[in-house]
Amino acid sequence: MLKIRTYPDPVLSRQARAIREIDRDLRTLISEMFDTMYEGRGVGLAAPQVGEGIRMCVVNCTGDSDGELVLINPVIVEATGEATDEEGCLSVPGVRSKVIRSERIHVRAYDPRGQELELEADGLQARCIQHELDHLDGRLFFQRLNEAARMAVRRQIKELEDEYKDPA
Ligand code: ZN
Repeated sequence: MLKIRTYPDPVLSRQARAIREIDRDLRTLISEMFDTMYEGRGVGLAAPQVGEGIRMCVVNCTGDSDGELVLINPVIVEATGEATDEEGCLSVPGVRSKVIRSERIHVRAYDPRGQELELEADGLQARCIQHELDHLDGRLFFQRLNEAARMAVRRQIKELEDEYKDPA
């Protein structure tokens, strides 16, 4: 199982770099990331969350093995509508908040065989993909909240910061 980095680990606020080559190491990482995501009962996990600053994430919003999705160098090419729903993050334990996202997205990425992949997503999957892509740009979900919502989670965020500085 991989160790999940938690806020305010600096790797979570860095821009991840594009993947140039899809090799055996990457495929191993993908498989380990799925295991780690299921263990943590998450629906998505981005490489920076396990300390790898590369543009890749794994997603499974259905819980079935055929719901598994790997996005390498993903780009949202179109986003429409607006939807608000609650989100949490394995890297921000104990914090949940409602986040405004696009309702529908069109994503372009590469799959683990190096094939180009086009995907239309809505609902939970669209939300999850937007959340994971934010991780690749060093952005966490609570940084998308408006002032009032951010105030509501401020204490929990502060606690994470204090715990990180002083693990004892
Ligand atoms: Zn997250």
